Amino acid sequence: MHITPSELIDPFGRNIDYLRVSVTDRCDFRCTYCMAEDMTFVPKSQLLTLEETYFIIETFLALGVKKLRITGGEPLIRKDIDKLLLKINRQKLLEDYTITTNGNRLEHFAHTLKTAGIQRINISLDTLDSAAFKTLTRTGTLHNVLRGIDCAIAQNFKKIKLNAVILQGQNDNAVLPLTHYAVSKGLDISFIEEMPLGNTTAHNRADAFMSSATIKRMIEEEFTLAPSSHRTGGPSRYWSILGSHSKVGFISPHSNNFCADCNRVRLTAEGRLLFCLGNEHSIDLRQAIREYPNDTKRLKDFITASLHLKPEKHHFNDPEAPQIIRFMNSTGG
Ligand code: SAM
Ligand code: SF4
Repeated sequence: MHITPSELIDPFGRNIDYLRVSVTDRCDFRCTYCMAEDMTFVPKSQLLTLEETYFIIETFLALGVKKLRITGGEPLIRKDIDKLLLKINRQKLLEDYTITTNGNRLEHFAHTLKTAGIQRINISLDTLDSAAFKTLTRTGTLHNVLRGIDCAIAQNFKKIKLNAVILQGQNDNAVLPLTHYAVSKGLDISFIEEMPLGNTTAHNRADAFMSSATIKRMIEEEFTLAPSSHRTGGPSRYWSILGSHSKVGFISPHSNNFCADCNRVRLTAEGRLLFCLGNEHSIDLRQAIREYPNDTKRLKDFITASLHLKPEKHHFNDPEAPQIIRFMNSTGG
């Protein structure tokens, strides 16, 4: 397959070379900021098969995508995910091949991921307190995830990063312990501002909001941070934690709109291609490939022609903007 690097340019001149693929909307956790307690998932018949997912990924690689993140829902609960990951890697076209996981099954999957060519892993971890962990994830057990992290460390991935969503009054006391933990393990850590995706009844999002600036000030009470030029292709802005091998990143969709550098599109588990986390524009790739199976040329043309739908920016801070009803698990975080 030929690489044609500049086929995916959006109307604002941004080169789209990063695809995030959600392989399932299901999850073994029910994090309060991500899902409702009682979720209705997409019927399995409406999900892309792994063959269809592969066909779409292969087409994006042919269009010049060089960075791929596999996510969900929880990607490690998708049956035969290991086979899909291996097959993608056989193309040898990716500069950056990554996965985001809640870590619950990492103990069993860390070696498989390494063998499948995954280079970097993001692991979500919002607290080190097991009771708070249970409250936030509703179904999770902290020590499984900590064991999973140790198994991943043992596999020597190029990079492991922790992701923490901090909610005021719930886990804001976890900022420093998580930073100490990341430093002690030699991992990077990103703090994410909660985004208003889906209606969650567990808390009031406005009351729970913690800005990146506040979190950074908390960290600076115990660590010295120096600006870092490190970028991973995602929206995190990084700071080096002096005297350690770790960096701390801040993903600040509210306080620091990152849209000008946006290089990515997202494929949902049911085959919708989303152009922006904070807007509803999308096209139906499942219908396209079921109507014309294995027609790579037609799919390439369809994707290229749809890029005019990519909006300039999200509007999370605009009270007039339409509410996004998608939950993060169906979007593919
Ligand atoms: N299940 C995997 C995990 O938790 O890492 C992958 C999918 S999850 C949707 C990806 C990331 O989105 C996680 O780091 C999670 O913390 C984050 N996330 C979920 N809902 C969010 C929200 N409303 N605002 C900000 N981040 C969110
Ligand atoms: Fe599951 Fe990840 Fe959402 Fe938590 S953040 S409910 S682990 S998909």
